[in-house]
Amino acid sequence: MDPLDDPPPFTCQDCGACCAYAADWPRFTLEEDADIDRIPVAMVAPDGSGMGWTGTRCTALQGEVGKTTSCSIYADRPLVCRDCVAGDEACLMARERYGLPLTIAMKA
Ligand code: SF4
Ligand code: SF4
Repeated sequence: MDPLDDPPPFTCQDCGACCAYAADWPRFTLEEDADIDRIPVAMVAPDGSGMGWTGTRCTALQGEVGKTTSCSIYADRPLVCRDCVAGDEACLMARERYGLPLTIAMKA
């Protein structure tokens, strides 16, 4: 089922789990150099392969996972981040790590 057909009862703004799941998730793929140049260099991984990582989370993640979060470079975030869909397989895997609800809303 496409999660877009049946949106989950949670939002990215109260989650952020996939931004604090694995350092190799927010990698650059097909970005142009100009796209990457818009991201503050201090937030990019030292080897330039993707977003930097501090502790257990992306350097651009703000807030507390599972409470209130935001991406400080939202307009310039990597393509892989734009492809994330709340409720998809990777999303649920990340949410499960943080013990966040996985339930898909039931239709009446
Ligand atoms: S895609 Fe899923 S795991 Fe990522 S922030 Fe949104 S709800 Fe959370
Ligand atoms: S760049 Fe933004 S959307 Fe992508 S992992 Fe980091 S905080 Fe999340």
